[in-house]
Amino acid sequence: LEHWDKEYVWHPFTQMREYRKEKPLIVERGEGSYLFDVEGNKYLDGISSLWVTVHGHGKEAINRAIIEQLDKVAHSTLLGEANIPSILLAKKLVEITPPGLDYVFYSESGSTAVEIALKIAYQYWQQQGDEKYKSKRKFVSLVNAYHGDTIGSVSVGGIDLFHKIFSHLLFETLSVPAPYCYRCPLDLSKDTCSMQCVGEMEILLARHHREIAGVIVEPLVQGAAGMIVAPEGYLGKVRELCTKYNILLIADEVAVGFGRTGKLFACEHENVKPDLMCLAKGITGGYLPLAATMATGEIYNAFLGGIEECKTFYHGHTYTGNPLGCAAALANLELFEKDKLIETLEEKISFLTHGLERFKELKHVGDVRQKGMMVGIELVENKETKEPFPVRANIPHRVILEARKNGLIIRPLGNVIVLMPILSMSLSELKDVLDITCAAIKKVTEGEA
Ligand code: PMP
Repeated sequence: LEHWDKEYVWHPFTQMREYRKEKPLIVERGEGSYLFDVEGNKYLDGISSLWVTVHGHGKEAINRAIIEQLDKVAHSTLLGEANIPSILLAKKLVEITPPGLDYVFYSESGSTAVEIALKIAYQYWQQQGDEKYKSKRKFVSLVNAYHGDTIGSVSVGGIDLFHKIFSHLLFETLSVPAPYCYRCPLDLSKDTCSMQCVGEMEILLARHHREIAGVIVEPLVQGAAGMIVAPEGYLGKVRELCTKYNILLIADEVAVGFGRTGKLFACEHENVKPDLMCLAKGITGGYLPLAATMATGEIYNAFLGGIEECKTFYHGHTYTGNPLGCAAALANLELFEKDKLIETLEEKISFLTHGLERFKELKHVGDVRQKGMMVGIELVENKETKEPFPVRANIPHRVILEARKNGLIIRPLGNVIVLMPILSMSLSELKDVLDITCAAIKKVTEGEA
């Protein structure tokens, strides 16, 4: 298997020759908070697979829901037909997401959920009766943003590794500084800055609002940028600006949705009602690929019209609204209620907060960021100057390998070690996540256990 994996499988982001020399971890099965490899080794899943697992691996209720649906029908199309799970799930999503999001457009991944939101926002303005809106064709996003890896979602992204080489294929996006307080892009201090990063956004929107279709943000936490947590009030201010300048707010809740931040959706923390909302990852609890782009009734209605007007949204994937995925999502959401998952998170989140204190004392930990069950530990060569480790030292990757040796799976994002524990983890499992990570960082960066 190991040989065939190297011989035939093109893994994302891993073509450095050094990585090809490493032994792959071939997962065979999962149970609760653990994954098991083909050699029978057991690993605590500290990143919820890829930020998706909610109630644990092999959860019987979800498995059963998928099998029951499989016994009925595995696939039917939403192009011209409907299916039971996709109807029930849409109703449920409309009930649980912020008020005003009244329609659900299904797809398969976070990237497609974002792609769809961008296309809907663009077309929405193009088919307004008033000619003055036709110039609203651009999007605003944050520096460092990650919204997926299709061409549209990369266009609104800001991470060079994904962006740079494709620059000629991408559409122009206006970017604004991110609220990255540890390394403030405006060189200000968090205590006195009065959120000048929002001020910068306002300057841009005031100047260009006639050309701007939408602002896209990851509410509260920029995940792939390294778990950058926005200060309180940031999201609310962005909403205010979008309303003031008649711009659609697209909330990309792909990573932060479904309990990650301690509430079912991150927008709830600041009572923000976006115009479009992108959901994926945790929607099925990590069981099947599914995504949803939610839109307000006002947006949906702008696409209604007679045949001659051709206002239809011409976007529809083969697997859109797949019944298996929707059945898994319904079972996942039922478990949120049955297990009172959101209520149980409060204790786990404070346990993490408390447990993360000791990381701050480590010699090479520059910043520790947490929002709910999302954690980023930023490693630095020098705490005073915040100088990062040289890329060649490959420190974050070595930390991950050290943790793996000790039975924990985590992943780095640049020089940030990310913890995304499964939401159903017990306190003692969370303690293991913290202990193993702390020891691995200390060993790799300070040379001792
Ligand atoms: N948006 C955000 C905020 C994400 O974190 C991700 C994935 N990490 C995506 C979009 C893309 O999702 P997917 O990988 O499912 O396409």
